[in-house]
Amino acid sequence: MSEKTSEQNNSALKLLLLGVWALYALIAFCVNHTSEGGTPAAAPAEETAAVTSVSAAETAPQTAAQPAVLRDIYLTFDDGPCKNTPQVLDILDNYGARATFFTVGSFVDRYPEYAADIVNRGNLIACHSYTHDMSKCYASADAFMNELAQWRQAAQNACGELPERLCVRFPGGSTTKHAAAVSEEIKQRIVAEGYQWFDWNAGDNDKWQKGNTDQLPDEEYFMKSYRETIGWFDDEPDTPVVFLFHDTEEGTVRILPAVLQDLIARGYRFKLLDSHPKWG
Ligand SMILES: [Zn+2]
Repeated sequence: MSEKTSEQNNSALKLLLLGVWALYALIAFCVNHTSEGGTPAAAPAEETAAVTSVSAAETAPQTAAQPAVLRDIYLTFDDGPCKNTPQVLDILDNYGARATFFTVGSFVDRYPEYAADIVNRGNLIACHSYTHDMSKCYASADAFMNELAQWRQAAQNACGELPERLCVRFPGGSTTKHAAAVSEEIKQRIVAEGYQWFDWNAGDNDKWQKGNTDQLPDEEYFMKSYRETIGWFDDEPDTPVVFLFHDTEEGTVRILPAVLQDLIARGYRFKLLDSHPKWG
């Protein structure tokens, strides 16, 4: 019996040792599995997530800080529609920007699909006369209003309907010497008809090569002009900026992505002229 008991004790001890070893092996396996399999795989993911969240956290305050200095800009493109207009619309889309297009009625008749695209892609179509011919536009206030009626017909044909608020820009601007004799009467009649007229207070000088005294290449001169004129508003965050471009100028199309990127970084929001404070 004692031998048997001893054998039984021996077996029990062996079983116990085996159990302990098995337990130890299980724990060791789990630890190894976690440290070799789990941790290294998880660590980079966590690091990546941490880096992302750190960089998001670093960017967030800048983005969040922007509303405090948010400013309004009304981008305007004159003299189209033209072959560059679809590309301008693409670039605006890429940056979530919108613009007002002061179109010439005769070009709306020539490129009705581009005019329709301006509207269908969330931009505002506006009136920049029918002929853009100074001698015709400013022959009299009646002549100007007649150009406006012709523009309306062209825009309606191309787009199906007219914008609720019709913005008008004088060819050459309201202070052009060509309009001097009739501009006051034209302004009064525009407003009396429920429309509104707009000049601009900044631009990239894409139609004003006289200012390019250093004979810079177009893109450089336009970009320099952009930086100069936008800089005028650095200390005037409440002044709405109405920025003049011409979609007919290829140099403007080329600098547009850089301009939009810079405006966004400066905290500008892109608005359409039908929401300009001038409407009251
Ligand atoms: Zn023009």
